[in-house]
Amino acid sequence: MSWDHILGHERIVAQFKQAAARGRLGSSFLLVGPPGVGKYTFARTLAGAFLCESSPEEQLDPCGRCPSCQQVTAGSHPDLDVIAKPADKSFIPLEFFIGDKDHRMREGLCHKISLKPYRGGRKIAIIDDADYLNPESANCLLKTLEEPPPRSILLLICTSENRQLPTIRSRCQIIRFRGLPTNTVEKLLIQNDLASDQDQARRLAELAGGSMQRAVELADQEFTDFRQQLLHYLAEPDGDNVTFAPILNEFVEQAGKDAPVRRRRMRQVVHQAIKFYRALLRSIAGQPDVHDQCLKNCLHRAKSDWSGIDETVADCLERSLQALDHIDSNANQVSLLECWLDDLAHLTRRAQLT
Ligand SMILES: [Zn+2]
Repeated sequence: MSWDHILGHERIVAQFKQAAARGRLGSSFLLVGPPGVGKYTFARTLAGAFLCESSPEEQLDPCGRCPSCQQVTAGSHPDLDVIAKPADKSFIPLEFFIGDKDHRMREGLCHKISLKPYRGGRKIAIIDDADYLNPESANCLLKTLEEPPPRSILLLICTSENRQLPTIRSRCQIIRFRGLPTNTVEKLLIQNDLASDQDQARRLAELAGGSMQRAVELADQEFTDFRQQLLHYLAEPDGDNVTFAPILNEFVEQAGKDAPVRRRRMRQVVHQAIKFYRALLRSIAGQPDVHDQCLKNCLHRAKSDWSGIDETVADCLERSLQALDHIDSNANQVSLLECWLDDLAHLTRRAQLT
């Protein structure tokens, strides 16, 4: 963990360092900006800078090596509390702030931040998804903001300051994050193995409008597009595996250079085929139609065009499950996928001939 990993927000880093050097740091900050630009990573690094045991606070420069920095990276520092909205909730639950019914004001973020620091010189709390504070939570938080415990730092992360109560807004220093420059998104995509090469990274970055999150979603969109191609190919009774193999290989290579990310993508692909064959078996057995329009069309196509369908589908499913087993043990990914496609083509063609 260090500022080197914070790309595109050098101006904000400099602003904090200057304030620290002059001993004029506030205690409550509202980090505002579009989703996916690195506000959370910034907040964690800032927490690390405050808690670092080998770099003086006036420098605000986390060393990344001391026990404190390591605990911040591992998410186990006793003086750093992070809360966020659980995926299945519409708000951050009140108990995250003040403890559950049996432990009111004895647990939760507002309680923890008021305690004496264990090892660092400060108590720090990060509230991710602060867009989702319900009025009760916002009021509890307000009490903490009105009388911040000594040496406490509170970092609220949100996408719009208008989503905060005016009373919260006025008690925080507002730090505005802009969208990331295109070349920064490009660099991050490559660094994090989310794009296979410079070309793909540049294309995704240009479409992402300064948001890493959007870039990652777009990379997933490529999977959606490929999935459509794959389903259409699988539904054909005499699909041309020689033409399709290079398309599949290219898609796997796009995942990145390292074997683990490629294997992950191969599993994704084979999983889609397994899902297709299973859905086909269910459809043949008269089970209701699926909602996914592309899958639905492909199932209909296979049902009307394939001969000896029951047995063929069962064989293709078995062969795909076998391929899935082999992905982790087989070193040669290209030949593994080619053999799989080849066998599927033989199985479906054999059925057409009988
Ligand atoms: Zn350190």
